[in-house]
This record gives sequence, C-alpha cells and structure tokens, in this order.
Amino acid sequence: MRFISTRLASEPASIREALEAGLAPDGGLYVPEHFPHFEIKDFENASTHAEVAQVMLRPFFAEDPILRPLLVDICERTFEFSIPLTSIGGRPGDFILELFHGPTSAFKDIGARFLAECLKVIPQSPVDNKKRTILVATSGDTGGAVAAAFFNLPNVEVIILYPLGKISGRQEKQLCAWGGNIQALGVKGSFDDCQRIVKEVLLTPSKSRKWLSANSINLGRILPQMVYYAHAALKLYKTRDDPSTPTGFIIPSGNLGNSLACIWAKKMGLPIGPVHLAFNSNQGVVKFLESGEFADAQVVATLANAMDVAKPSNLERLNFLYPETRALNEQITADFVTDDEIRVEIQTSEEVWQQVLCPHSAVAAVARKKMALGKNRGTTWVLVATAHPAKFETIVEPLVGHPVEVPAPLQEILKKPSHHQVIDADKMSLFNALSLD
Ligand SMILES: *Cc1c(COP(=O)(O)O)cnc(C)c1O
Repeated sequence: MRFISTRLASEPASIREALEAGLAPDGGLYVPEHFPHFEIKDFENASTHAEVAQVMLRPFFAEDPILRPLLVDICERTFEFSIPLTSIGGRPGDFILELFHGPTSAFKDIGARFLAECLKVIPQSPVDNKKRTILVATSGDTGGAVAAAFFNLPNVEVIILYPLGKISGRQEKQLCAWGGNIQALGVKGSFDDCQRIVKEVLLTPSKSRKWLSANSINLGRILPQMVYYAHAALKLYKTRDDPSTPTGFIIPSGNLGNSLACIWAKKMGLPIGPVHLAFNSNQGVVKFLESGEFADAQVVATLANAMDVAKPSNLERLNFLYPETRALNEQITADFVTDDEIRVEIQTSEEVWQQVLCPHSAVAAVARKKMALGKNRGTTWVLVATAHPAKFETIVEPLVGHPVEVPAPLQEILKKPSHHQVIDADKMSLFNALSLD
C-alpha cells in the first residue's frame, strides 16, 4: 500500500515516509492509495480493540519489513486502556463511546500513542544524525496527548506551543508537567499564531534537527482512530436482534480528524450507518455542506475549546474522497451548537444521560436531541465522548453544582511541578528561547 497526496503533485510515499513526513512535499495530506474492503467475518476472531486494529490496519503496513511484524505490539500498547461502549439515558437505542480513559483524558491519546509507538521503531537513516524534533501547536488537548506519548523516548524531543491564557488550567498542566524531552512554550498570541510559527519552522531546514509534525495532518493519528468505530459498530452489529438496523455515530468535530476516521472505516465496509458531525459555533463545515462553498471565517472561542477551528485541515482529505458536495452530503450530515446550548446540556446531563459530559461531548448530545426524528428512525446512535469532564472543571462544576471526580492519570499529572517558557508570537523568539539553530 502506498500513500498519495491529496494534491497529487508529490510522489506516492511508503507508510514509513508518510508517518515521518506529516505533510506531503506539495503541501497536501497523505491518504491511502486505495481502501481495503472488509466483511464482518474477517473480524470473527477479533474481539479486543487491539485485535480489531491488527485486522484493519494490517493492509496499510503490509509492505513495511520493520513495522509489519511489530504491528501486533504497536496495537497492543496503543489500546492498553479501556474504551467502553455503554447504553445511556435508559434508552435502548442510545449508546455512548467513551474515548477519554487514556493518560490525558481525551481521545487524542489514541492517535498520539500509535504514532509514538510507530516512530519508536522506525530507524533513523544512518546518514541523518539529526535529532528528531516534534513540533506541536495545540489548542488544548493535542499537546498533552503528544507529550504523554513521547515522554522519555530516546532521541526525540517534543516542543509544544500553546496560546498563553487561552486553555484550561488542567490542560496547561498536562503540557507543562513533564520536563525531560518535553518543552512547553506559552505563546503571547492565539492558537493560529502557534500554528503559523510551527508551519514556518517545519519549512526551515535545520543542521541539527529533523522536524516532525504530530498534529492530525499526520496519517499516523488518523489510522488508529478507525479502530474504535469499527469495534463499536461490530459489537452492536453482533448484539442486535435485527442486524439490518444501522449504527450511527454523532461526533464532536473540529479539525475533522476523528470524524474522517469514522468515514474511512465506513468506506472499508464496516457496518456503520449515518455519520453526523456536531460542531460548536465554528460552523464553516455546516455551511459548506449546504452551499458547496467553503467561506473563510475568524475562529470563534467557545466552551468546547479543542474544537475551535475555523478551517479544518482534514476537510482536504474528505473532499479528496468525495469531491462532489452531493456525494459528500450522502455520507455525512452536520449541525452546530451554541455555547448556551452546551451550558444547558451539561447542567442537565446527569438527569438526561446519567453522566456528566465535558463541553465537547455535550455538543454531540445537543446534536442528538436536535436530530430530525423520522428520517433515521430505528438507527442505533452512538454519542462519541471525546474528553473527561474533569479536564474542564471550571466550566462543568459550576453547572452541575458539585465537584467532578478526577481520573487517576490526571491526578498524577496535577501533582507534578510545572515548567514553561513564555515567548512572543514569532519564530525568532522560539529559536532564541530554545537556542535552536
Ligand atoms: C481535538 C478534540 C475534538 C475535535 O476533534 P477533531 O479530530 O479535531 O475533529 C473534540 N473533542 C475534544 C475533547 C478534542 O480534544
């Protein structure tokens, strides 16, 4: 299997090249040259996430002599924590898929761990003694997941840029509590400034460093995310009285990495029905699906901060797969949710869903309620819960009126001392702060 750029102006890449490069040289994003097709029976002997992962991801790694034999280990280490799928709200047709039981309590742990496990075993070329340096711009959750996944890996350094004062206190702690090979830099600016600096540096050749990207432009983040959709859809398929009832997913979306993975899994033949994308007030994709035109807009800051994206990078991958808006509209539907609606949803979440939701998961829950009845009658819906509410305690606790229990891995991180430097929003400040060349 080779991987081609969405802009079709780069040479096809091997899996290893795609994982190391992040972005293709023509500025496009790597996508599989073709999608393997699976039948339900291919998963007969796969019950755990790691086992489903091995079946599903094998074709993508089949030609790599180093990664192929290690795929079993890579999948086992990636899917070490639980990803429960449970019935909610006392309704037989409603489920919740909790993706937040990893080390940093957000779904990004899965993609970040898989990428780290792959890069760990990809040897550096002998002519290239440069230090692998991962640059990450984060709006909140990516940086922590990447730090946790790459902490203490030999020969890799991670540099995290985050917008100072614009992320939750606990999110900041998850970026700054590591030390060692992880450096956190608070940028006096916005997330867009962080992203701009990262892109500039990625294009600046360095004598001593090989720059890598771990944002969701990296294929290594998307591939493992297909697995939890496949696993949930297979499980519901097997337990249903009527297997023709489809399983639909409602996905809180920002940069579209998570939802793209669901759409790819569906494309590969998994028993997935409707896919509904739930956005916060950054509603560019909703308008795009209506009009066929993507209008640039300013990012709006919302309570679901990890979804504050005006122009999702992975839209390019989605358009590559379904270039016509009509075809895309047959694959996905979308809606957006305001901050007021998020607040009400969190406030009532214990009563309605029997659990406290984080602001991002609340976006999916509101979208579920707004869904036109009738059209998808009979569909089993899975709400995708992307983060633990304890990460956003300053928003959630006043609304629910009591403290939210902090998961053990987050408690550990909160105990550690913090380290960060503050820089101005330009590339030179970054280079000076870290004495980079
Ligand atoms: C990143 C993130 C999202 C959005 O996911 P995308 O892949 O960017 O669409 C949703 N919820 C949480 C908690 C996140 O951290």
